[in-house]
Amino acid sequence: MGRYIGSVCRLCRRERMKLFLKGARCYTPKCAVERREYVPGMHGQSRQKLSDYALQLREKQKVKRIYGVLEKQFKFYFRKAGRAKGMTGSALLSLLERRLDNVVYRMGVAASRNEARQGVRHGHITVNGRPVNIPSFPVKAGDVVCAGGTEKIKERFKAVLEQFKDQKKTEWLEVDPQKLRAAVKRLPGREDIQMPIQEQLIVELYSK
Ligand code: SF4
Repeated sequence: MGRYIGSVCRLCRRERMKLFLKGARCYTPKCAVERREYVPGMHGQSRQKLSDYALQLREKQKVKRIYGVLEKQFKFYFRKAGRAKGMTGSALLSLLERRLDNVVYRMGVAASRNEARQGVRHGHITVNGRPVNIPSFPVKAGDVVCAGGTEKIKERFKAVLEQFKDQKKTEWLEVDPQKLRAAVKRLPGREDIQMPIQEQLIVELYSK
């Protein structure tokens, strides 16, 4: 019997890939993927044959969990993506990437999107010099996002930056680690999102 793992780690195990949803723990040997733990229950280690609907629903839940958005908000993004130019699925992911909490995470000053969201909610983030405490705030090309606050908070941001300095850089952001600052060079495209997401399944789900 495998050891029980939390629902967030279960997502990674199911995808057989690290999705980095749990902050600093994801970079340690405690990571459930590294330890090759499996979900409890009789189907924990087997690959079940799922219906098309179940696969589509699963993909949607996965993306919601990755970005930490609720159903209502997710539907809002989907509708907005449907009105955008190009592929709806790619537009959906681009909208999610543009969320301020995600940008703070991509800057490397927060170990997870959850931690980034806390930083935004607590008023430690500015956009173009103005405090913004709305995690869903959409950044646009040319915006400048800064992490700030008291010296103690800045130290925390710098410590996370140092910890994750070897991680892959986010191409659409220009990060200045000294100033805890990131400029949005361009809007993120599908090619910038290196996660195992099959967005067409979500489009199919909502097209029913
Ligand atoms: Fe859990 Fe993070 Fe490892 Fe995923 S990458 S299994 S969220 S510790």
